[in-house]
Amino acid sequence: MNDGMGLAIPSLRGQVSAAEWQARVDLAACYRLCEMFGMSDMIYTHISARVPDEPGHFLLNCHGMLFGEMTASGFLKVDLDGNVVSKPAFDYGLHPAGFVIHSAIYRARPDAMAAMHTHTIAGMAVSALKCGLLPLTQTATRFHGRVAYHDFNGPERDPAERDLIARNLGQHHCMVLRNHGLLTVGPSVAEAFNFMYGMERSCQAQLAAMACRTPLNVLPQAVVDKATALYEPGVIRPYGLLEWAGLLRMVDRRDGTAWRL
Ligand SMILES: [Zn+2]
Repeated sequence: MNDGMGLAIPSLRGQVSAAEWQARVDLAACYRLCEMFGMSDMIYTHISARVPDEPGHFLLNCHGMLFGEMTASGFLKVDLDGNVVSKPAFDYGLHPAGFVIHSAIYRARPDAMAAMHTHTIAGMAVSALKCGLLPLTQTATRFHGRVAYHDFNGPERDPAERDLIARNLGQHHCMVLRNHGLLTVGPSVAEAFNFMYGMERSCQAQLAAMACRTPLNVLPQAVVDKATALYEPGVIRPYGLLEWAGLLRMVDRRDGTAWRL
């Protein structure tokens, strides 16, 4: 059990807008879910949310906090030039690569309200395959032709790389950072998490199948195309919203409710 109050961060509830507060609660949940689903890398990746009523500001983890420690009041608020607008009263600060990757997205994509980056074993392994993510399973067909790729040029510490990240992402919601990890972008935290959950499961299944050293049952292209079209956001429903309240209840059951403060 983790009550999330190890750092005793004073609550900002009532001091920020209702829209910002909701984004903070969703973002804190997303960090905890990322850990619960085995997608965290201690302190080394980042998930962010744009402040809905301050589009030039986004919320990001304080570098040094574990994902399971995140609370709604424990985020940095950062502008698109890297200035910290507000922060909790402790020494953890802004991670330069986190700023570069996430500000690249918010500068280029007005529709992006959340972004999630992971270094899972499966995501890193697929990122190191020339073939990238293949449409081998029902889950993976959703991403066929919907994944961008960005070559590794060293850790993303130079703000000049933001233009290249944005150009490579284009209008996609999912990107493989080659030889690095996975990145998803969504119109909400819930949808960014769902894109990442699907990408992660697809990568895990692809690696498991490819590791069997037996011929793969490759789907006919027409079947892949049909499945991809059916999985487009909005064809059936926007993925990630239906289950979000249930996922937050799952966090409450595991961690208590102090993370919501
Ligand atoms: Zn990374």
